[in-house]
Amino acid sequence: MKRRHAYALSVLLALAFAGVLWQAAAISRAAALATVREDAQRALERYGTSLQGLLETYAVLPRLLAQEERVTRALLAPDDVALRAALNQRLSAFNTTAQATDTYVIAADGLTIAASNADTPVSFVGMNFGFRPYFQNALAGGSGLYFALGTTSNRPGFYFSYPVRHRGQVIGVCVVKIDRDRVENSWSQTAMPVIVTDAEGVVFITNRADLRYRTLQPLSRAARERIEAARQYVDQPLEPLPLADGRWLDGALRSISLRETRAEADGRRSTVTTGYLVETSQVNEAGWHVHVLAPLAPVDERVRYTLLGVGSALAVALSLGLFWRQRRHRLRDRLHYQARVEETLRRARDELEVRVAERTRELQRAQNDLIQASKLAALGQLSAGLVHELNQPLAAIRGYADNAVVLLERERYAEARTNLATVVELTDRMSVLTGQLRGFARKTGDEVEAVELGRSITNAIALIEPRLREDQVALTVTRPPQPVWLRGNAIRLEQVLVNLLKNACDVLRDATERRIELTLDADGARARIGVRDTGPGIAPDALERLFDPFFTTKPVGEGLGLGLSISYGIVDAFGGTLRATHHPDGGALFTIDLPQAPPP
Ligand code: ADP
Repeated sequence: MKRRHAYALSVLLALAFAGVLWQAAAISRAAALATVREDAQRALERYGTSLQGLLETYAVLPRLLAQEERVTRALLAPDDVALRAALNQRLSAFNTTAQATDTYVIAADGLTIAASNADTPVSFVGMNFGFRPYFQNALAGGSGLYFALGTTSNRPGFYFSYPVRHRGQVIGVCVVKIDRDRVENSWSQTAMPVIVTDAEGVVFITNRADLRYRTLQPLSRAARERIEAARQYVDQPLEPLPLADGRWLDGALRSISLRETRAEADGRRSTVTTGYLVETSQVNEAGWHVHVLAPLAPVDERVRYTLLGVGSALAVALSLGLFWRQRRHRLRDRLHYQARVEETLRRARDELEVRVAERTRELQRAQNDLIQASKLAALGQLSAGLVHELNQPLAAIRGYADNAVVLLERERYAEARTNLATVVELTDRMSVLTGQLRGFARKTGDEVEAVELGRSITNAIALIEPRLREDQVALTVTRPPQPVWLRGNAIRLEQVLVNLLKNACDVLRDATERRIELTLDADGARARIGVRDTGPGIAPDALERLFDPFFTTKPVGEGLGLGLSISYGIVDAFGGTLRATHHPDGGALFTIDLPQAPPP
């Protein structure tokens, strides 16, 4: 889908590209053509006017001559040698003044009676020009203009003729010939080819030698015959122009392509085809036309430059567009990527949070289990003493109960009552202990409640009491009269105290002086419990690792190395600290420091 989209887009782009180029080419071609046409028209104007001016000027000359009396007289007296000589002189002078090539007078029969060149070997005198159209035209009464190659000189030129009238009769013709070079010399400078064609379409004046005596179109048989009869172009072949292509509009040539021979730099000749725009105007009634051939190369060049310019602009625009698009894509990709990364991170974080929560719960559970396990382990270690503690009253109860039975049989009721009262007292004592045991052994969470420190101390001592007695350890307790409160968990706090007392008993086993001092101080803000023994104290290397889990110096099976580490955790959870130091008077001192709480 996306690819099809891109394909359609590129096709559209290519079409737009082509359209813009085509349009640009059309516009620039039209503009360039307009410029070329303007130049051509200006040139045409210039050439046409100059040619017309020249022809009109020279047309006056035979007319002036025809009005001279000596011309008439000479024509009327063909045998007067003196008159002819005088006329020849006059014509020679006239010819020089007019800067003409030849000036001569022809009689009505076509025979030349006088000429400016009468004194030269090429004298026209005696020659018959009756076949020349300029003569025939003038004889018919009009002024003649004719272009031809000279019959004797072969030199091309304009023939201006005018009839000489006498009493309403044309008795002769005056002719002035002007060399074609007079016109062409002023034209040869220009680069733009100019051709002048006669009524038959033969190029007879031009600034391009290779186009001379060529025809616009193949000559008709009649035209060719007329030209040959007048010997107008003598023996020129009169081939058509080397047209590769020509466009005619309303009978006039509008543009042509000429095959041109060009001399290459290495001396070889090559043929190229050059296009021209043609502008044409009529020169005179004789059907002469001036054509200016304006090269179309600048048009093509301009179109090429325009195409190049527009094409490069489009290419730049296109590549900018592509670059921008790609950049946008890349940006979008990057944003996508970023969003994906963020999403992944977010999900990972969420998952992690869930896991951490799970783990925390697990950890808490594990910690609780551990605390419980270590508590039970401590109880297990104390069990011998505790069992002994329970056995004693049990045995006593048994004794008192037996006695009571005997006393009742003997109806000694008062004594029996005393015995039974003692039994009650003993079972009360036992139930206190078992109650404490049950409480201690109970699996507890980390619920926080108001705890009275004195009571926890009493309970802990109750649990350790049998052990103290068994090991003959003296325990002294110093505590303030008023209750001391804190926020925590009573059973856990008892667990800490039992632990410290049990550890003290352990180290005192081999000691000579067996004493434990338990102190409780409270200053309103904090409560401090000290447990000091008279044991060996703590080994220096053990001091640092005392609270590490599984650190123990006791033989396998006796210690897990968890007691202190768990105690530390419990006290810490209550916002307090547990520290071990050496007592200045020997032995170890464990201090629990806890924040005090107001009584509930
Ligand atoms: P356990 O009692 O199972 O060894 P504890 O964490 O309770 O584990 O104690 C770690 C160690 O700290 C004991 O093995 C002992 O070396 C030392 N210790 C504990 N209490 C005392 C004390 N009152 N005097 C000297 N050393 C002690």
